Amino acid sequence: MNRSLQKLAVVTLLMFLILAGYLGYIQVIKGEELFFHPQNPRLARLESERMRGVITDRQGKILARTVKEKEGLRREYPLGEAAAQVIGYASNRFGSSGLEAAYAGELLGIKGWARFKNLAAQLAGRQPRGADLSLTLDADLQDLAYRLLAGRRGAIVALDPRTGAVLALASSPSFNPNNLAGEMARIAARPGGSPLLNRAIQGVYPPGSTLKPVTAAAALGANTAVAGGKFVCPGFLEVNGRRLHCPHPHGTVDFSQAMMYSCNVTFAKMALEVGGENFVRTAESFGFNQEIPLELPVLPGRLPPSSKLNANELAEIAIGQGEVTTTPLHMALIAAAIANDGLMMRPFIVESVKAFNGRVIWQVKPRVWRVTTGAEVAKIIRRAMEAVVARGTGQAAELPGVRVAGKTGSAQNPQGKAHAWFIGFAPVEAPRAAVAVIIENGGAGGEVAAPLAREVLAKAIGVVD
Ligand SMILES: [Zn+2]
Repeated sequence: MNRSLQKLAVVTLLMFLILAGYLGYIQVIKGEELFFHPQNPRLARLESERMRGVITDRQGKILARTVKEKEGLRREYPLGEAAAQVIGYASNRFGSSGLEAAYAGELLGIKGWARFKNLAAQLAGRQPRGADLSLTLDADLQDLAYRLLAGRRGAIVALDPRTGAVLALASSPSFNPNNLAGEMARIAARPGGSPLLNRAIQGVYPPGSTLKPVTAAAALGANTAVAGGKFVCPGFLEVNGRRLHCPHPHGTVDFSQAMMYSCNVTFAKMALEVGGENFVRTAESFGFNQEIPLELPVLPGRLPPSSKLNANELAEIAIGQGEVTTTPLHMALIAAAIANDGLMMRPFIVESVKAFNGRVIWQVKPRVWRVTTGAEVAKIIRRAMEAVVARGTGQAAELPGVRVAGKTGSAQNPQGKAHAWFIGFAPVEAPRAAVAVIIENGGAGGEVAAPLAREVLAKAIGVVD
């Protein structure tokens, strides 16, 4: 071979390798991503001929299943509106959402080995079937949470603080996933309210006074003596010539009383005392400015870096107003972390994935997501939050014979009346459930959100009253 022919051979070989590499990349690396793209017509076709797996709650109650009808396969959602955003829907006309979208590969049996097994089943003339999902959700609690929202705009989240298991993730207004065509037409005709939006994880709000436990953690983390301190509230605090107000002068209060009456002046003072850097570091340990891991996309809680905070902004953020926003799920995680000695567990909704023969393909292992504050500080905050429910602004969350802890919030916002908030957990001595409730523009958290949290906590820990 002469030299130029040799060169040509090398160039051709190189080009071949590049092409082979690219095709391999498309097939292997990008393959799944491209396949699960909602616009892929092959996915839509599979959707109409494949038996999606069953989705069940923690007790095995059915949340989604496929039934065979004369016209073909139909997906059925027994909880209907109550779990529409979290379970989602799967339709060859409207695509998919929620867990139905996030777990399409498993539910349709086109991920990993299931792909080959289903191919074999198909060749043998059997109906291919996807894997089943067992969720941590409690169908009855989910249904109760949704009904408590009673058509108002808002969300309720309940978690097991010991594991991070999500027990309820309700959002209102909602839609009926059993009648998608009708509902989509209704939503298009009358926009507003965003029923498709999962407010529990995609609704972003100022937390208001429900952020005060985090402010307390920053102050106590720097100096536990704060727990025994006295504070004077004349009804306002002047910071750089601007006044931050309490609804009325609280006079001299101790740490627990400041939490009980939700004294803005005291918490603003605490934050100014520890400084922006300490405050922001503590808030970030509680998950602010972090991606919250979950099987569904969660919008992160946000606050500015300490370098961008002046004293006025810091004082406002310390009481959950101004440049701080987050989701109901995140506020439930904050309550859960205080309940769990400062350890914030990684939240999850899918407990296990099982093949249709019952074999467990994957099972979750609960693990710590963030170490927020020490056990000692968490305990001091728990006691103060217990006082909120026993004698303070959160008395509407009280349950007979159960020690309940909580914090109310009435978050000012540009959209109108304050958002009514409540976060809490029970029983205080060994918490098994943590909750966050928000009613958009509902007014006072203690009056509007706390009674709903009470119902959810009672049901979650099995108290009959
Ligand atoms: Zn005050």
